[in-house]
Amino acid sequence: MEPCMLCPRQCNVDRQQQMGYCGGGGQMKIARAMLHFGEEPCISGQHGSGAIFFSGCPLRCVFCQNHVISQDNFGAEITVERLANICLELQEQGAQTLNLVSPTQYSSQIVQALERVKPQLFIPVVYNTSGYETVVALRQLEGLVNVYLPDFKYKSPELSKEYAAAENYFSVTSQAILEMFRQTGPYRLGTDGILQQGIMVRLLVLPGTRQDSKDIVHWLGTHFDKTDILLSLMRQYTPEFYHGENKNLQRRLTTFEYQQVVDVAMDYGFQGYTQDKNSATTAYTPDFNLEGVR
Ligand code: SF4
Repeated sequence: MEPCMLCPRQCNVDRQQQMGYCGGGGQMKIARAMLHFGEEPCISGQHGSGAIFFSGCPLRCVFCQNHVISQDNFGAEITVERLANICLELQEQGAQTLNLVSPTQYSSQIVQALERVKPQLFIPVVYNTSGYETVVALRQLEGLVNVYLPDFKYKSPELSKEYAAAENYFSVTSQAILEMFRQTGPYRLGTDGILQQGIMVRLLVLPGTRQDSKDIVHWLGTHFDKTDILLSLMRQYTPEFYHGENKNLQRRLTTFEYQQVVDVAMDYGFQGYTQDKNSATTAYTPDFNLEGVR
């Protein structure tokens, strides 16, 4: 981490001295650790996922619904030992998965914590990421993470440049997803319906760019069999968190736009999840109040 090259931003800064693009310093920060019921059923189950929300984000999309933590960097500093204890506490509370949300910028400390507690964890460890990951960093997680939950947001370099200042998002994330699959193999659900192993790709369909979303599904369909990965097609985009000039991002997604992407996914036979139009609310954004941090 010193100098930090943990993610594709490759800041090359000493985080003990200055923050990188992600907002991460030398000490790990989290904003909340809680039982969270807002993920897909195979992640949340009936009793909730044990979600740990890390502060900061290497991607920082302009419309982010979690901007309080991803861009304002809200959170409290914790040690590796405390993170290890939080993992066990969430399991004791009944969590059906351990859900590491936006973990990339602290992946080196997360590896240390998981190495301590993995033998005591009997629930799947879920790496819930923007997808903007290096293969090198992902290899450190091999054997510690059971389930990868990557976003796959943009195909076009122009779009990812405009929305996340990451022109290389697709080329980087596509390689990252192939590495994730190399580690986990095809997905496997438990008898309780919880995802025990594998990848579920999340695609947030955005207003005005349905062709880009369809292009991503086509890429997935030509690189994976329908039994390899799960696909979660999200329509929960809400413009409340966007304050820029882009007209597309100032409105909600239409049913027509969303259905076009769903139809392509169905043509490939992918299993997974869709959302109804009532999903486009702020209800999926938790309050970040440091619950469970100390
Ligand atoms: S993790 Fe943060 S500091 Fe490190 S390379 Fe990525 S953006 Fe830069």
